Amino acid sequence: AKQDGRGVYRIYSADMKVQESQEFRLDLEIKAALAKQHFMLNYQPIISLDTDDTIGFEALIRWTHPGRGVITPDEFIPYAEKNGLIGLIDHYVLRQSIEQIRLWRQEHATAFYISVNVSGLAFSEPDFTCAVIEKLAEAKVPASYLAIEITERALIENIEQARLCLKQLRQHGVRVLLDDFGTGYSSLSYLNEFKLDVLKIDRSFIANMKPHIKDNPVVNTVIALAKTLNLKVVAEGVETSLQRQLLKELGCDAGQGYWFAKALPPADAIKWLR
Ligand code: C2E
Ligand code: CA
Ligand code: CA
Ligand code: CA
Repeated sequence: AKQDGRGVYRIYSADMKVQESQEFRLDLEIKAALAKQHFMLNYQPIISLDTDDTIGFEALIRWTHPGRGVITPDEFIPYAEKNGLIGLIDHYVLRQSIEQIRLWRQEHATAFYISVNVSGLAFSEPDFTCAVIEKLAEAKVPASYLAIEITERALIENIEQARLCLKQLRQHGVRVLLDDFGTGYSSLSYLNEFKLDVLKIDRSFIANMKPHIKDNPVVNTVIALAKTLNLKVVAEGVETSLQRQLLKELGCDAGQGYWFAKALPPADAIKWLR
């Protein structure tokens, strides 16, 4: 047993030592990857079901590790959230996305947005809004080109601060999307708690859709709920033409998923936009 700085006794078993040293390495490797720009963003199109136009993209992070190849976000984001590194990643992703908007706007006249996944910890920083608005101003990018995706899990830490941040961002014109809707316990309460622009239906609901339109009461009700609240609805994980058609008939505004495109490297995404 060993006493740490805060007077807490910890028992170190051989197993835990291995685990801790691995986590320690991942910690260093994330910092190194940020410095060496081994993280990159891919962009998954979000398509209007009405017009088939691309209205935006979701920025999805990819880590190209020199030894281990491409590492997906599910393998390091939860770790980064636990270990205080997510803030560095959030700011990197925001900066990168805003720079991407700046470049694409030079080549593409029609409006679009890039939607960024932001961890709840970011909203605990009182100056998060300022940081975002500053980055937008530096790049001369209108706020309406940026969107923020929040998940219920990530927000619970500091509701008051989160509410304030989101309010300020929306006042500037940044869209706020509620991600993975329907997967958590607090889904409905978040609709009351925060002013939002878009509700993203989690892909598990889309995957379970039945071929007959009448047999999809849950998706139907979620879309109706969003309309009542004046929110746009994006369906995630649209994989088939049937899902796309059913969602359109149910009044869903937009879709995202492999049926349209997977997340594309920047060069392919701008080609897609054109
Ligand atoms: P998410 O926000 O729900 O992102 C959507 C995930 O679904 C992405 O996985 C995407 O590639 C995948 N996907 C898209 N279309 C389809 C489809 O038709 N079918 C199926 N089965 N999957 C589809 P990805 O890129 O591996 O991201 C996983 C999660 O990692 C994301 O879930 C998000 O929570 C997190 N994440 C990704 N990028 C970032 C980031 O830059 N910052 C933070 N904080 N989290 C991120
Ligand atoms: Ca997301
Ligand atoms: Ca999602
Ligand atoms: Ca998810």
